Amino acid sequence: MSNIVLAVIELFLTVRDMGTSILESLLKVSEKAANIARVIRQDEHLIKLLVQEKKGAEKNPRFVQDFKTLADVLIQETVKHDIGSRFPDIVNHIFGEESNTFSNVLGDTITVQVQADQVATAALLSTVLSGDTQAAERLALEVHRDLRLEDVDMENLPQLNLPLEQCGIWIDPIDSTSEYISGEEAKLSANDIYKSGLGCVTVLIGVFDRVSGQPILGVVNQPFYTQHGSRWEGMCQWGVKFGDLSKCSASLLRNMEDDRAKVAVLSGSEDPNLKCRLRSAGYVVAEASGAGYKQLCVARGNADLYLLTKGSTFMWDTCGPHAILRSLGGGIVSYKRVLENGENLEEAELKYGANHTAEEQCSASHCNLEGIIAFRDRSLVHELVKILRPS
Ligand SMILES: [Mg+2]
Repeated sequence: MSNIVLAVIELFLTVRDMGTSILESLLKVSEKAANIARVIRQDEHLIKLLVQEKKGAEKNPRFVQDFKTLADVLIQETVKHDIGSRFPDIVNHIFGEESNTFSNVLGDTITVQVQADQVATAALLSTVLSGDTQAAERLALEVHRDLRLEDVDMENLPQLNLPLEQCGIWIDPIDSTSEYISGEEAKLSANDIYKSGLGCVTVLIGVFDRVSGQPILGVVNQPFYTQHGSRWEGMCQWGVKFGDLSKCSASLLRNMEDDRAKVAVLSGSEDPNLKCRLRSAGYVVAEASGAGYKQLCVARGNADLYLLTKGSTFMWDTCGPHAILRSLGGGIVSYKRVLENGENLEEAELKYGANHTAEEQCSASHCNLEGIIAFRDRSLVHELVKILRPS
């Protein structure tokens, strides 16, 4: 066989293999991210850094950002590093909520990136942490930890065949940061939905097709799912929708209860008039923190719809959960375009892309400006249009 034929066969096998492995790799790195989030909350030294609010003279004299931002950036960079080193096709198209450049009042800047080894990463982190080597070493240990495969449930993962060369990734390292910092005990809202607390914290990773703009693979990790004494255990769920392939984690496939009242999950700060109209239409209104968590509630069937009238979510908040909802036959559409402009659901479905410069990454172009409606059952959105649309 000629070398060219062999090379083509090898390329084909590589692409096929990469399809399967990208899901495995995302599950593993989401678990590593969740682990970093748990370590920071459970380590006595790190938790002090997380919750203290520095004021005036106390502020880090070298670098102005707080520890919370560093934790976010570190998790985001760990995902970028682990996925980028394994899948070079996608390395230049991995985007996150946070800029990884830290700067101080003197104009010095430092870029936080995972280094070749633990010692080098600790040295870099120590600079941003004003020489706090204890914190830097603890974090670097977790960033470079080689997760055992048994830490993540890898059973029954499907064969995927994703065109990674035309894909991008959006990461939200810690969604619901205020709940993460306060660390309060979760309070139940309705239908097993947490109103607030660590249960609403999620790590969100979404793969999108840069050509079609569709989200195709999503992983959502809840680092604080269950507590055993002082130890937290997480929960990770995934979904893929690409072409004819629709697959998701087994735990999402449980039967929905037909006889319960319909539940709409909303942010506590949502328009009271909207809550009132939903209740009049027979909905139970459940309030919950965290955009990622609210989308997960819909994916799991704890809620039927998540409505958001404001432009307070960004592509990193929705890309991963949106892919999971699509794998279940649902989706996410623009609130305004469906309810005010009367567009059909296909036209109004959210699309993904990314601008490359750091300044543009956090700009309005990545904001879901017109609000969102997340659903599993599209007939409920058609009903909602009749309930809420001004006639
Ligand atoms: Mg977020």
